[in-house]
Amino acid sequence: MEATPEKKKRVRQIIRTLKKEYPDARCSLDHTSPLELLVATILSAQCTDERVNLVTADLFRKYRTWEDYASAPPAELERDIHSTGFFRNKAKAIQGACRMIGERHGGRVPRSMEELLELPGVARKTANVVLGNAYGIASGVVVDTHVARLSERLGLSAEKQPEKIERDLAVLVPETDWIVFPHLLIAHGRKICKARTPLCGECPVAKLCPSAFKFDGAKAKA
Ligand code: SF4
Repeated sequence: MEATPEKKKRVRQIIRTLKKEYPDARCSLDHTSPLELLVATILSAQCTDERVNLVTADLFRKYRTWEDYASAPPAELERDIHSTGFFRNKAKAIQGACRMIGERHGGRVPRSMEELLELPGVARKTANVVLGNAYGIASGVVVDTHVARLSERLGLSAEKQPEKIERDLAVLVPETDWIVFPHLLIAHGRKICKARTPLCGECPVAKLCPSAFKFDGAKAKA
């Protein structure tokens, strides 16, 4: 999709408006360190952030270092993360990533996209989440289901694959907003631009949105 100067201007207006609307928009996965955020992000695949936060409240008390995860009996870690779903694959990814963090990175979660992508179970989205929110490094734009849906509705990308959507957004969104932008869209997607029934009548960016009131289930303000 072409990134015209008009479209770039419209994106800046959308960002400005959403920043006013959601001044506290931030990563909703609870964490106090890059390792905790990495684990929480792996757990968040196909699971709500609320559920992940419930699980990690206990998990992070029990597992404090990469070694704690790497040396745990797989069945025990699987049990501890069971309710996030896909627990076998997730446990395997967490243990594999932690082993590599210990063996190759001196126990520290790496700070580059290249190194993060080498960790088992870590794809571009997870790497972007960790770099942006644990290290403040704008490596790209996180694309989850909310970001994908809103990007399409707002006319920012017609792509379906997250990496292609990210490519479109990286051209349109100023680099200084790459980290906050997904948090703004996620907050807006949860509150107003919902998957089934976007509340266009209550939407502060309706005037900037080509899909306003065109969606079948869109509700006007009562
Ligand atoms: S106008 Fe409607 S479709 Fe567009 S962003 Fe707002 S809620 Fe979503």
